[in-house]
Amino acid sequence: STAALSIEEPIAPAVEVNHTQLLINGQFVNAASGKTFPTLDPRSGDVIAHVAEGDAEDINRAVSAARKAFDEGPWPKMPAYERSKILWRFADLLEKHNDELATLEAWDSGKPYEQAAQIEVPMITRLIRYYAGWADKIHGLTVPSDGQYHVQTLHEPVGVAGQIIPWNFPLLMFAWKIGPALACGNSVVLKTAEQTPLSALYAARLLHEAGLPPGVLNVISGFGPTAGAALASHMEVDKLAFTGSTATGQAVLGLSAKSNLKRVTLELGGKSPFIICEDADVDHAVEQAHFALFFNQGQCCCAGSRTYVHERVYDEFVEKAKARAMKRVVGDPFKGGIEQGPQIDSEQFEKIMRYIRSGVDSGATLETGGDRLGKKGFYIQPTVFSDVKDDMLIAQDEIFGPVQTILKFKDLGDVVKRANSSHYGLAAGVFTQNIDTANTLTRALRVGTVWVNCYDIFDAAIPFGGYKMSGQGREKGIYSLQNYLQVKAVVTPLKNP
Ligand code: ADP
Repeated sequence: STAALSIEEPIAPAVEVNHTQLLINGQFVNAASGKTFPTLDPRSGDVIAHVAEGDAEDINRAVSAARKAFDEGPWPKMPAYERSKILWRFADLLEKHNDELATLEAWDSGKPYEQAAQIEVPMITRLIRYYAGWADKIHGLTVPSDGQYHVQTLHEPVGVAGQIIPWNFPLLMFAWKIGPALACGNSVVLKTAEQTPLSALYAARLLHEAGLPPGVLNVISGFGPTAGAALASHMEVDKLAFTGSTATGQAVLGLSAKSNLKRVTLELGGKSPFIICEDADVDHAVEQAHFALFFNQGQCCCAGSRTYVHERVYDEFVEKAKARAMKRVVGDPFKGGIEQGPQIDSEQFEKIMRYIRSGVDSGATLETGGDRLGKKGFYIQPTVFSDVKDDMLIAQDEIFGPVQTILKFKDLGDVVKRANSSHYGLAAGVFTQNIDTANTLTRALRVGTVWVNCYDIFDAAIPFGGYKMSGQGREKGIYSLQNYLQVKAVVTPLKNP
């Protein structure tokens, strides 16, 4: 059974929480209302710190600062190479403070410290360098004209970007959002998720240490219906980037439409198929399917959460997937060798437990897990269901927890139809040794990413985003620059052609 290690006595994290205020115009300040809210340790539900609670008034203050920083400069007008150097120095500081950032991240979100320290913080450092590299390589075109005109395009920053991020990858989402926005010369008001306000404040302080002018990046802790909605409906915000649930994505798109039609990009939910063909390397597929679902406590928008297995390898796969889940090491995120920590909070914990009960009630076979782990905190046993049918709730809804659902398929046409019969279209995994099968599936699947014989590869240059109700627009890579630029055509008559 699952190894539950030291989850009754949480290990004390080796870091102080120094930043709990709002960051507006380069200063840490209290909320206008003076209010605070507690951010909780998912290992115990205990309070880590009380954090300033931003609401509409603070969003107004932050947007004014961002507006001024954009309209009066120097940020959008300074030589792009200067912006690049500031981002590059920021990356150096992220590298230097890798372990403190990872500690705050693990403490506030419950993810294994080693995962944060060895994968996520290095990834954001890499991503900031990637966008530092773009800052001075953004330019328009000279365009041919039918008349005697000199025609050029200017690629200009959009202005003030509002950014709203979730709690599952607080630092990574922070970096995906601010990296391209700042490289293109925008100013930013970013609202963190109420569950995980700490790491972004620390990182934002480092960015100011690196030389960012005041007002260019403002960070507001607070709740969705207050601070988040105020940002999404603000008349002086030119662009909104949102990552979170599909329902909230629909809400913020509506707020944008009803206010000033700010440009919106959305990165939303998913129910990503993970397809194991009859010729797949089963052991490799088992390990990757396990990783695709259980990584980050199952709290990934692109989790491979519908595991479709060809009938010829189905029994072998289920046996091995179950054995792998039973070996998964769950425990205190600050203990070495831990693969899985607690879920983020009681709300998510209860929701996942409801889905597990629904799986049992609907007749799926519970192979392993299904219960909480320990008596406190939000730990859940790695859970595997087999004999799952497409019409069961656990095969349709985004569970966002450590619950693998395994379905059987007969042929490619069948699995393509079933894989595509979802309102979501974020990602997919395809496991086969046959190039023709891989080509058929990668083209037929209506999703924004297909990982073939791998999963969750997230290089800075690889675009990420959803088809259908999984989102609009792409983040990372060259594609995300488009979100933060607008094109101005400039037409000048040629006097003496
Ligand atoms: P989850 O269910 O995973 O918490 P949400 O979509 O509710 O996902 O949250 C993602 C982000 O959206 C968080 O920063 C949250 O505060 C924010 N948010 C939630 N509701 C709203 C809203 N009505 N308007 C703007 N932002 C919101």
